Amino acid sequence: MSKIQIMDEVLANKIAAGEVVEKCMNVVKELVENAIDAKASEIKIELIDSGVKEIRVTDDGIGMDKEDAVLAFSRHATSKLKTERDLFHIGSLGFRGEALPSIASVSNVTLKTCNGETGTMVEIHGGKLITVESSDLQQGTSIVVKNLFYNTPVRLKYLKNLYTELSYITEYVNKMALSYPNIRFLLTNNEKKLLKTDGSGRLLKVIHDIYGLSVTKKMIEIQGENEDYKISGYISYPELQKSNKNAITLLVNGRVIRNLDIIRYITDSYHTYIPQDRYPIAVLKIEVDPILVDVNVHPTKMDIKFSKMDTLKDLITKTITEKLESLTLIPDAALETTVDENKTRISTVYTPNRFEEFDEVKKDEEFQEFEKMTLNFEVQEAEASYLPNGTEIKEKEIPKKERIKKMYPVGLVHGTYIVAENEDGMYLIDQHAANERVNYEYYLKELSNPQPATMDLLVPITMEFPSNEYVILKENFHLLDSLGIGYEEFGFQTIVIRSIPVWLTKSNVEQALRNIIDIIVVKEDFQLERFLDHIAATVACKASIKANDHITLDDMEVLLERLRSCENPFTCPHGRPTIITYSKYDLEKLFKRAMS
Ligand code: ZN
Ligand code: ZN
Repeated sequence: MSKIQIMDEVLANKIAAGEVVEKCMNVVKELVENAIDAKASEIKIELIDSGVKEIRVTDDGIGMDKEDAVLAFSRHATSKLKTERDLFHIGSLGFRGEALPSIASVSNVTLKTCNGETGTMVEIHGGKLITVESSDLQQGTSIVVKNLFYNTPVRLKYLKNLYTELSYITEYVNKMALSYPNIRFLLTNNEKKLLKTDGSGRLLKVIHDIYGLSVTKKMIEIQGENEDYKISGYISYPELQKSNKNAITLLVNGRVIRNLDIIRYITDSYHTYIPQDRYPIAVLKIEVDPILVDVNVHPTKMDIKFSKMDTLKDLITKTITEKLESLTLIPDAALETTVDENKTRISTVYTPNRFEEFDEVKKDEEFQEFEKMTLNFEVQEAEASYLPNGTEIKEKEIPKKERIKKMYPVGLVHGTYIVAENEDGMYLIDQHAANERVNYEYYLKELSNPQPATMDLLVPITMEFPSNEYVILKENFHLLDSLGIGYEEFGFQTIVIRSIPVWLTKSNVEQALRNIIDIIVVKEDFQLERFLDHIAATVACKASIKANDHITLDDMEVLLERLRSCENPFTCPHGRPTIITYSKYDLEKLFKRAMS
């Protein structure tokens, strides 16, 4: 090969690097995926300064011989390796970037590898081969990438601050650990441990290693299947919430993927269980015949499309909804259930003390104890299912409509919170939120009635609108029809309402009509279901008792009974809790009557 050709190749790699390697994370990703392809059972990722200074990835996989070790960095040879690597991915989402030569062109790379026979060391600086010699490594591969982008003028354009780079890497490694529970992962930055998994193959253990015990205790196992798909994994109790989607991990046939639609199906299944701008924690494994999957790959991300999206949506929605409906979701006020938003991801990065305290043995013991409890629980369940009548009894899962035991009100605190009790403990109920939930479910049911009962108004209501709103309203008169609102156009920008659906009479009619029309005129990308939901929530809020409305014990009792009969009695339509509890045991413990 002439010198000029070599220069061309170096240049081509550097150009490609800009596309393939945007972040330190992309380098980590390439190296970790190589390690997985090499059938590693342990992968160590050691960073210095978030990887900007150095990324070291070590695995115990099959390694390479001398020839392959050199060829791995040649753009020309990558395609040959690629077909070999694709063999590992038959039936999976096999995708490989040609990132290794690109990475080597903009950094200093040292590769040590051994296939069990010969050990090789290759050193490459800025894409130029410096040395090839034998190495003392016994098995596997170790790649050190130093000074990423050192020889490019646009280094700063590529790399964000250390904090951001590290959060990308942490998120990526967390997701890989979740997709490969059989592989032991270790991630460190400046010798501080960020993640360590044990390779025991247990998904819940990986969740524990990433998110900690308090989150793990609040994860629910799910499972479901239909003709085309099989799903399984863990979702969080609604009380665990995050402000972003990063804690939702999607795996398709074992590979981490990105798909905003699926994330939406998951969060939509939590509709009214959590506020609109919040997200659950979830690890969802999807198994599907690869024929139904269309992989649309970009070197830095993996997005995929499913050809039977509808049945997947139905399956996810049904599985999660049914699971949530089967649980008692009253937050226990005495337990510390709120999870520090950043605990698992970001603050750990910047509070080194945390990691000095990282007491692995203790952490693992706690998990084992928790696991033992869960196992005991399952044993009890299993025994229960052998009862003569053969009915499976699950203690945690209780039949719908009886999701909260009967409670007896004893008073009102701050004009807002109903205090109630039963044999299990004490409850605090937010009277507005509870009333709002009751009304919301009522309105939603009425609204979905295609032929709503209507009644004439004794005194018709005249409503005038600014011209811009009137234009939109006029375009959407059919929505008023479908709601059962009888109207007439009356002169300029004015309508007269003559009849209304009966359900509307439960609230301040004029105010409710205003709210509905407001929703119609500001609607963006209209969907009937969301429209009705929005109306139900809005009208419910306005029609409900407020804080500082003093209600009688009898009213409270009626409200609590109606709350108990709701589909979801635990949250208001905005996802805020309606009820919290102090269990009898909590109270005994708090007052030191019970020791433990
Ligand atoms: Zn409200
Ligand atoms: Zn609310």
